[in-house]
Amino acid sequence: MKRILILGSVIGAGLLAMAVAGQQEPQRAGGFTFPPLGSIEKVADNLYRIPGAGGNSAVWVRGDGVLLVDTKLPGNGQGLIDQIRSVTDKPVTHIVNTHTHPDHTGSNEQFPANVEIIVQENARASMEKMDNFKVAAGKVGLPDRTYKDRLTLFSGKEAVDLYYFGPAHTNGDTLVVFRNARVMHTGDLFAMKGLPLIDTNNGGSGLAYGETIGKAVAGIRNVDRVIVGHADMMRWQDFVDYGEFNSLLVQHARASLAAGKSPEQAMMDFKPPAKFAGYNLTPVRGGPGMNIAGLYAELKK
Ligand SMILES: [Zn+2]
Repeated sequence: MKRILILGSVIGAGLLAMAVAGQQEPQRAGGFTFPPLGSIEKVADNLYRIPGAGGNSAVWVRGDGVLLVDTKLPGNGQGLIDQIRSVTDKPVTHIVNTHTHPDHTGSNEQFPANVEIIVQENARASMEKMDNFKVAAGKVGLPDRTYKDRLTLFSGKEAVDLYYFGPAHTNGDTLVVFRNARVMHTGDLFAMKGLPLIDTNNGGSGLAYGETIGKAVAGIRNVDRVIVGHADMMRWQDFVDYGEFNSLLVQHARASLAAGKSPEQAMMDFKPPAKFAGYNLTPVRGGPGMNIAGLYAELKK
């Protein structure tokens, strides 16, 4: 989830873009403002990234079709198809949703019913509870296939590995590894360099977050670059560091709770090492003590 801090300038830019292009306004959903749908960018041979209008999408061009990872906010189906058509005339045959959130699953239903949609099994259970998937027109966007811990799609140079290591952002966060490209899509398990958003309603856990990334770091090999949920391309080491950041946050919360500090005070006192200097330490939502308050709640259970 990307919060645009300089809202005024973004809205200004959006109005300008609308006047010029017609459909380029930022999209608002769930209290967040998302930049407009961006242009497709090449990441590696046969692998592309489409930013904006929700989470980053990945496009994997195979011999007989395209795998699309994440479908952004509602209403972006045609926009995604137009971007994909600028690099290949092959149809979208498969969709992977990294998790349940509407900025990653919102345009599922705009793809034909014969497109196979694949998610981690807990993500499917979460999606079934969402209003947009309950109505008849939305049901086509529900997953056709699920997996528990690991699933390999396709073979040879086209192979794509899906991994689930445990709760973090939600309890259904998939990591997608494009083996031949040595690139991984993290969804919002690693959305950006900053405090994570923890969706406890969908089984997320701040307490488990660093541990879950640690398991991924131990269990995944041969990845150089990372497509994150809501920021520009990053390196594998950034993902490794993000696990450490979350473990440090838990350690700090544990010590602060023992010392009787309020969540707000504990958040203010959180001073991670210099390598995290570029991190945004403002909670994504819920006020100044939010991440620590969530950790306190989990620690007290
Ligand atoms: Zn999310």
